[in-house]
Amino acid sequence: MCNDFFERGEKTTDAPIWFWVVTAFVLGITIGSFLNVVIWRLPRGQSLMRPSSSYCPKCNRSLSAQDLVPLLSFLFLGRKCRQCKQPISWRYFCVELLTGLLFAVIAWRFWQNGADCIALLLFTAVLVPIYFIDLETFTIPDSLNVLVFAIPLVRDIVGIIQKEPAHKPLWGWLPYSLVAAVGGVLIFGIVRLIGWIWKRQEAMGLGDVLLARGMGAMLLCFVSPSGGLIGTLLIWFLLAIGAGAIVGPLMLLFRQKRAIIEEEPESPQEFPEEDSNLGEQLFALAYCLCLGDVWGYLKDVRHRWSEETAPVEEDFAVAPTAIPFGPFMVLGFLLTVFFGGILISAYLGYALPKSVSS
Ligand SMILES: [Zn+2]
Repeated sequence: MCNDFFERGEKTTDAPIWFWVVTAFVLGITIGSFLNVVIWRLPRGQSLMRPSSSYCPKCNRSLSAQDLVPLLSFLFLGRKCRQCKQPISWRYFCVELLTGLLFAVIAWRFWQNGADCIALLLFTAVLVPIYFIDLETFTIPDSLNVLVFAIPLVRDIVGIIQKEPAHKPLWGWLPYSLVAAVGGVLIFGIVRLIGWIWKRQEAMGLGDVLLARGMGAMLLCFVSPSGGLIGTLLIWFLLAIGAGAIVGPLMLLFRQKRAIIEEEPESPQEFPEEDSNLGEQLFALAYCLCLGDVWGYLKDVRHRWSEETAPVEEDFAVAPTAIPFGPFMVLGFLLTVFFGGILISAYLGYALPKSVSS
């Protein structure tokens, strides 16, 4: 498979593969540097445009160009702000390195997929802030969920206009990305509904269901030939749930330990008491399906991006037992894109041995 991949690569372009991988890595760490700004400012209600220069979150002084070289500035400054000498969080370095590595691996694996590869790079650049913001604040900003849905939809429509065989619309008019998006909403929406019926509290936020909408649509570009769209969505669901089941308890343990070490006062805040009824729960799903958030976002988009909004509280009250699910969906999605086909083939080979199927 690998030989085939390299041979095809050499035919389509003159530049060697390492050139694209290195370019993608440099692009990734540079974008990662901007994503750090997104991760800090979006949940605090700050504008991404103003102030236009980056600033130190500790002393609020503007950073100069030499403080902003991805990866290197962090290392050469010894993890400290040049001006106030306060330590800088490792997250800044990790976000840049992670984005660079993800871009490099995606370019290495999918560069021959052309527009699908570019769409996946853009999509990943939104997944990174979703991962870190959800981990910190237990919410996913609407603007990111709108982007996560718009990127695969635009990619699909471009494919339809250019008459690409993989982007043939259903019944000649309905983009398959919308079908896949509905699939994503239904899979995680039903989990949310079951959780609500079972425990009468929101096991999964609406933001996760909106994230599932975009991920479902994006998976259309990476459908495993052996599993089809349904098989691909199912393996994504299983990988996300699996990641949550394995890493979730560890996270809880770590958080409890940290709470004990830091002797944080026991937070009385639990999940808000839900007095919603089944009708409201179903309405929430319909809201995701009918793009209620997209319309709402477009309506006040000017307000969100250009006007200075009052900074909201810096601390996020978090229930000690709560786990954000968005990061596991991101993990499940990336694993599906890279290994979904292999896993489905392995499962089918196991479930349907050759002696039986042939
Ligand atoms: Zn500082």
